[in-house]
Amino acid sequence: MQGKIIKGIGGFYYIHVEHYGVYECKAKGVFRNRKIKPLVGDNVEIDIIDEADKKGNIREILPRNSELIRPAVANIDQALVFFAAAQPEPNLGLLDRFLLQMEFKGIPTIIGFNKCDLADVSKIEELRDIYKACGYPLLFVSVKEGKNLEELKSLLYGKTTALAGPSGVGKSSLMNWLLPEAEMETGAVSEKIKRGRHTTRHSELFHLGEGTYLFDTPGFSSLYLNDFTDETLKNYFPEFTEYEDECRFVGCNHVNEPDCGVKQALELGKISPVRYEHYVQMYQELKEQRRY
Ligand code: GDP
Ligand code: ZN
Repeated sequence: MQGKIIKGIGGFYYIHVEHYGVYECKAKGVFRNRKIKPLVGDNVEIDIIDEADKKGNIREILPRNSELIRPAVANIDQALVFFAAAQPEPNLGLLDRFLLQMEFKGIPTIIGFNKCDLADVSKIEELRDIYKACGYPLLFVSVKEGKNLEELKSLLYGKTTALAGPSGVGKSSLMNWLLPEAEMETGAVSEKIKRGRHTTRHSELFHLGEGTYLFDTPGFSSLYLNDFTDETLKNYFPEFTEYEDECRFVGCNHVNEPDCGVKQALELGKISPVRYEHYVQMYQELKEQRRY
């Protein structure tokens, strides 16, 4: 049978098989010899040892489409970065760092702003203005009022999505809304999600529906710029690309250079000053690092 590793604890792997449920499996010695460690998110072939007890063995790991190291997870199709439009105020510097990481890893990202019931219209328009030019799907939702959730759900369908965001923005609330009724068990999952999220560091995939999984991404708050240099940073701001041809200098960093297409676009309001400012901050941070 074929399934997906949704969790690994103490040498056991929990494999979700569509329509059959979850099997507790061991990885046989063959993997140790081949130096492959099964990861959450891996698609695997399993042999059933005991159907009644839902126990089995992993026979084979199917080829991976992608692999993240921190957190360790395989086959993520996309990320949903979730912030609150208000309460707490969104930290857009952090959001931009996250977008940068995903851009670097080539993982498509959806931006979701929750708690729209608490933000006034002008705030929502301001956020829309900042992010509309960079091309990420952008959603304004309220989990509390059920606003735009169906639209969000449809973007997740058939994919494995990493959900990330600071605490207090409504990630647990969203997961509770997304989890199918059958798996809810009188609020037990709600408690389980909270406990899981706040006390253990185990990565876990939640099955949302046919071929659809949500990965609760731990360790979100500390994002470093290790993968970038001051010279490469600009390549991960997708909205810069179409203006770079207009720069006088090849390899222009769009900061101090004259005749810069990106700075022109900024002046014309085609690039968000907030995004640009974050770019310059990170650029300078990286330049400083290189000097020492
Ligand atoms: P997490 O830390 O990201 O998992 O956030 P929670 O799901 O625990 O939510 C934090 C708080 O925000 C809880 O009190 C939720 O009831 C509340 N909350 C979640 N979504 C919304 C929303 O759309 N509107 C409002 N007003 N409150 C929300
Ligand atoms: Zn330039």
